[in-house]
Amino acid sequence: MAFETHWYGTGRMSGLVSSERASLGPMVDPFGRSIRYLRVSVTDRCDLRCFYCMSEDMTFLPKADLLTLEELDRLCSAFIAKGVRKLRLTGGEPLVRRNVMSLVRSLSRHLSTGALDELTLTTNGSQLSRFASELADCGVRRINVSLDTLDADKFRAITRWGDLDKVLAGIEAARAAGLAVKINAVALKNLNEDEIPALMRWAHGKGMGLTLIEVMPLGEVGIGRIDQYVPLSLMRARLAQQFTFTDLDETTGGPARYVRVAETGGRLGFITPMTHNFCESCNRVRITCTGTLHTCLGQEDASDLRKPLRASPDDALLGAAIDRAIGQKPRGHDFIIDRRHNRPSVSRHMSVTGG
Ligand code: SAM
Ligand code: SF4
Repeated sequence: MAFETHWYGTGRMSGLVSSERASLGPMVDPFGRSIRYLRVSVTDRCDLRCFYCMSEDMTFLPKADLLTLEELDRLCSAFIAKGVRKLRLTGGEPLVRRNVMSLVRSLSRHLSTGALDELTLTTNGSQLSRFASELADCGVRRINVSLDTLDADKFRAITRWGDLDKVLAGIEAARAAGLAVKINAVALKNLNEDEIPALMRWAHGKGMGLTLIEVMPLGEVGIGRIDQYVPLSLMRARLAQQFTFTDLDETTGGPARYVRVAETGGRLGFITPMTHNFCESCNRVRITCTGTLHTCLGQEDASDLRKPLRASPDDALLGAAIDRAIGQKPRGHDFIIDRRHNRPSVSRHMSVTGG
């Protein structure tokens, strides 16, 4: 794939009225936040069915609705031209999209030119044995692998049919290829709550960070969220009885807050959308595999970028549509889970928006 279209410097904007002109500077939202981080769901499909993420009988999008890999490349490149410095591919499971490595390879040109600081992905690890060395070869340096338990039976129960050994082999393949791996685990009531210390010791013992995530009320999954949700404030207090934490200043502009764990020497993160408001420093937006832009994970806001993308071979309309959407980025989310709000706050599943 070779896409070199940018909407500025091409001299092709003359047919636009001024309100449709894309801005040339970085994307800054109405609250003064610069948008530097783009997360792209390359597919809504997955080879697993984690019970907090998808219902067992998920209906997936018709393949014809998806952007092609070339279109995804063009869309990502448009955002990079507008100041995005970090790009994360996600899904669904990004590594089950056919030929996804051609997209990774093609996007890696932005690393070579210095336009992009980081190209990374979030994966369930099931396909990593196949792709780890090629990812490293494309300039991917760090990846996030989602893993909620080290118990094979629990893993099967959580993912409905997943094979833990395959994921562990994938993680080893990634480490062998020189990729830094961070483990993400969703804290799940009565399921892995008690296992978090062991999971942390295991991850830190291999030099991998661990980040805990609170269940978010995204999409109908056939079970009430109150049955899944553990507040991480509670989890942190429990862990602090066994471990010594030192707060770290590092942030990714996102929802994670990190501590250094004295006993393991490793880094532990807490992603607390439910108990801590992180929106004031939000630097990110998301696009789905159909080209819908969501400027906030926790709101129903959506802008269609597929139409302007397809309407014209240059990126002027697309750039203007991006600017309009960024100009309406909400201040923040309003997630609530309690007994009165035991329904999805947002109807999109995480696998659609891109976790
Ligand atoms: N399939 C890949 C994976 O599992 O890493 C990437 C997509 S997945 C949707 C991204 C992350 O979202 C995973 O870490 C998953 O655990 C998390 N996730 C999915 N549904 C969630 C929910 N309702 N609340 C919190 N985290 C969720
Ligand atoms: Fe698939 Fe990831 Fe969702 Fe699990 S969390 S069902 S691996 S998309």
